[in-house]
Amino acid sequence: MCILTLEQIDLRGKRVFVRVDFNVPLKKGVVIDDTRIVETLPTIRHALDHGAAPLILASHLGRPKGKRDPELSLLPVSKCLSGILGLEVIQADDCVGEGIAKQIESMGEKQVILLENLRFHPEEEANDEGFAKALAVLTEIYVNDAFGAAHRAHASTVGMVRHLSTKAAGFLMKKEIDYLERILRHPEKPFLAVLGGAKVSDKIGVIQNLLDRASTFLIGGAMAYTFIRATGEGVGKSKVEEDKFALALQMYEESRAKGSRIFLPVDHVVVERLDPEATTRVVATSDIPSEWMGVDIGPETVRQYAEEIQKARTLVWNGPMGICEMAPFSQGTRGVAEAIARSRALSVVGGGDSVAAVRKLGLAEKMSHISTGGGASLEFLEGKQLPGIEALRVDI
Ligand code: ADP
Ligand code: MG
Repeated sequence: MCILTLEQIDLRGKRVFVRVDFNVPLKKGVVIDDTRIVETLPTIRHALDHGAAPLILASHLGRPKGKRDPELSLLPVSKCLSGILGLEVIQADDCVGEGIAKQIESMGEKQVILLENLRFHPEEEANDEGFAKALAVLTEIYVNDAFGAAHRAHASTVGMVRHLSTKAAGFLMKKEIDYLERILRHPEKPFLAVLGGAKVSDKIGVIQNLLDRASTFLIGGAMAYTFIRATGEGVGKSKVEEDKFALALQMYEESRAKGSRIFLPVDHVVVERLDPEATTRVVATSDIPSEWMGVDIGPETVRQYAEEIQKARTLVWNGPMGICEMAPFSQGTRGVAEAIARSRALSVVGGGDSVAAVRKLGLAEKMSHISTGGGASLEFLEGKQLPGIEALRVDI
């Protein structure tokens, strides 16, 4: 079983359906961040240059809960894409039905149509068989470039694919799979994982799957406090998950048995109340005052983590080191991001908030790969099979 890439299939004169992830942020009907659109351009341009007739694009946008919602129409996206391509992009007023099928049939080479928000129909997320067929009849070739939706078994990512014999991964999808597989299957050692963010519970699966692979774990974010508290140390008012203490200890034991090392922060930026204006102090782990909370890793921890990062040949980072959306608590995340940017290791960053932080710091170009799918990359790193990827497999 293998997955074909777009360039391996003959598109000439065929209707080509590309599932993209155009779930972009909008403000007053205008796309305010076109990253997701730009990242799909290699696939779109290839399809247009290789004879797709026409190119049919489909995406979800936001959470319209199965109802038509004019605020969540893809019209701003087709306008934005049209501007980038310098080509008319027809905005369909629905994504299935006879009218749409006729409209597509009347189109030809070098023409693009963007179907209306798939999630206006509750059948999309329900992976309804009838709806899947209605999507499948629109096309002859199926391409999936929406890595960000690959962990969902929806009609446009799984259901319709069964009805089409020619299917392939788009270039963005391929890139995501290649990097994440390299991390999991053939990581050059030492392999280091930087894990942070809000909750241990969100990252348990990743830690467990990486315990067999990575030799070093650098823990930060609120997650660190669950680990520290589990060992019996005080963490003041820092955010912890009490029901995860046992699990944290178990992971500690497991890592020791496997010969890997889990690093916890040795110092912290603490505040008395969660407010960017609040007075901050930097304290050692044993000195966190009982009424204060940890909001970032401290400078000594950044120094230690940066040193470990320089030893790694493979790096994966998921989850910020502190409440980095508040500038005074973003230094730890910045320090780690800069260390990864300096490193020559293969570096992959996944997770919505971590990726946003790296982009904001202007360091995205310095990473080997920035994953476009928060939930999808997390599930991939957990070792799960993603339904949207599995659906693309063919026997050849
Ligand atoms: P990602 O999206 O990269 O996977 P998460 O969603 O797991 O990351 O975590 C990001 C969130 O974690 C941010 O909203 C941040 O405010 C929060 N966070 C990080 N450190 C702390 C902390 N010390 N205390 C409370 N929240 C934290
Ligand atoms: Mg997040």
